Amino acid sequence: MRRSFFLASLVLSFAASAAEAPPKSYVLKAARLFDAKAGKLVTPGVVVVQDGKVTAVGAGANVPAGARVVELGDATLLPGFMDAHTHLTGEPGPDWRQDVIDDLQRTIPEQTLESLPKVRATLMAGFTTVRNLGAPDFIDVGLRNSIRRGTVVGPRIIAATVGLGSTGGHCDGGNSFRKGMLAEESTRGVANGPEALRALVRENLKFGADLIKVCATGGVLSLNSDVDSPQLTQAELDAIVDEAHARKRKVAAHAHGAEGAKRAIRAGVDSIEHGSLLDDEALDLMKKKGTWYVPTAMAFQGVRERADKGMLPEENIRKVRAVDEARKQALRKAIAKGVRIAFGTDAGVFAHGRNAGEFALMVEAGLPPVEALRAATVNAAELLGVSSTLGTLEPGKLADVVAVPGNPLQDIRKTEAVFFVMKEGVVYRNDTEAQAPSAAR
Ligand SMILES: [Zn+2]
Repeated sequence: MRRSFFLASLVLSFAASAAEAPPKSYVLKAARLFDAKAGKLVTPGVVVVQDGKVTAVGAGANVPAGARVVELGDATLLPGFMDAHTHLTGEPGPDWRQDVIDDLQRTIPEQTLESLPKVRATLMAGFTTVRNLGAPDFIDVGLRNSIRRGTVVGPRIIAATVGLGSTGGHCDGGNSFRKGMLAEESTRGVANGPEALRALVRENLKFGADLIKVCATGGVLSLNSDVDSPQLTQAELDAIVDEAHARKRKVAAHAHGAEGAKRAIRAGVDSIEHGSLLDDEALDLMKKKGTWYVPTAMAFQGVRERADKGMLPEENIRKVRAVDEARKQALRKAIAKGVRIAFGTDAGVFAHGRNAGEFALMVEAGLPPVEALRAATVNAAELLGVSSTLGTLEPGKLADVVAVPGNPLQDIRKTEAVFFVMKEGVVYRNDTEAQAPSAAR
């Protein structure tokens, strides 16, 4: 008797879990759909999804038998957002001194585990793909792989691993400590001379990097590094880009000052990050070479918020105040000149999940709302090298779909209210249902 009860409950629990398995086909319906390629809204919004891919789009789409219909109402369907500049392993605490101590004391497993809520928050905010531009100890590679395997909930990650730079530069994690204080391995991204940097490119790729991040100038949040000064020679940047491109990998250059940025652009980097002091010559060169500009306006907002509360060292507060006006002008000029712009935030400088705040800041700087949406979809996909599978809602593409309430072209801040998130055909968020079937994953 006992035994048959046990068997029966086994069967029941098996049946229950089978019933809860997410369906493989969906029809997503909303008032509108954003056609990222054409840069316009289409009505009504209909996306058919089968086995993780988009199979049809539009009112006349063929609907497979047994597909689950998801009615999202007065909303807009968009391709999953992409953030081309994140730091998923970090987030500032209320006291920067404590952050420094934490960085020195936390084990790699702790840092990895503490990244899990951050990757989850990023996905739930509608960012289904991110390019992570700098993480210690290959944690980004681990997160990327675990997310890909489905053991961790988060966005698809394109990982740069540790950023490369010169001794004492922005990428030198040891530049705020006295000599001899840190073990050599903590400053692994640091080298001097073209061949030594070329070797670091090879090492990052060997251990799983998808692309290379390089620090071409000083930075706002590092100590002892002037934002306007170049930190690598032309020959060093040439070697880094040559090695990465030979291996079919892209290079993202952190650059504020115009001279350092120009060296990076001439070397052939794929994107300039921040670019706060870019001059006409640098912007014209970017336009000519097709170099992407990732303005990271949210980074400056995040740093300013912390500066206003006195939550940063004096040197950093001084630097953000000094470049804040110039970087707004640089972005305005870039927009006017038609430099290609991709969406990136530097999330990790501020709390993960606030990424969509960048849209409103881009629009404030003069980018039309439709171009801001394209920056985070079709443009970012091109910069990230994933255009063949992502960036638009078209048959054959991976089913990364988000929904925002209302019309984001009329109010760009609707992008900050994502309420539905699908990644590769799996629903991770649907606020119209009490609990999405796969939300418990
Ligand atoms: Zn960054």
